[in-house]
Amino acid sequence: MSDCIFCKIAGGEIPTNKVYEDETVIAFHDMDPQAPTHILVIPKAHIASASDITAQNSAVIAHIFEVIAKIAADNGFENDFRVVNNCGARAGQTVHHLHFHVMSGREFTWPAG
Ligand code: AMP
Ligand code: ZN
Repeated sequence: MSDCIFCKIAGGEIPTNKVYEDETVIAFHDMDPQAPTHILVIPKAHIASASDITAQNSAVIAHIFEVIAKIAADNGFENDFRVVNNCGARAGQTVHHLHFHVMSGREFTWPAG
C-alpha cells in the first residue's frame, strides 16, 4: 500500500522511535502517547484492520502477541499493561493498517471510553 503511513514505517521510509523489529513485525513508540509507555506493534505486511484477519494471514497475529510479551518483559511492565485495537472509524481507528496499542505506566478505566 504505497500511501499507507505504517507500510512506510515498516519499509523504513519514515523514521520512528523503534522498540523492536524482526522479519514480520515492527514496534515503535506512538507519536502521541496516551500513557507513559505507549508502543504500537504492527505486522510489516499490510492488513487493513482486525476485520481482515484470516486463516491465511493470522500467524503474524500470534507472533505479535509473543512480541508484546517480550517487549513487556524487556521493559519491566509484564504485569501491568493494556493492549488495544481500534477496528473501524467509529471505534477510533485512524490509521488503516492493523496495529495494537500497548500501554502501561498509569491506571486504566474499564469499560474503556
Ligand atoms: P488508531 O487511532 O487506533 O488508528 O491509532 C493510530 C495511532 O498511530 C495514533 O495513536 C497515532 O498517534 C499513531 N501514529 C500515527 N502516525 C504515527 C507515526 N508516524 N509515528 C508514530 N505513531 C503514529
Ligand atoms: Zn499499510
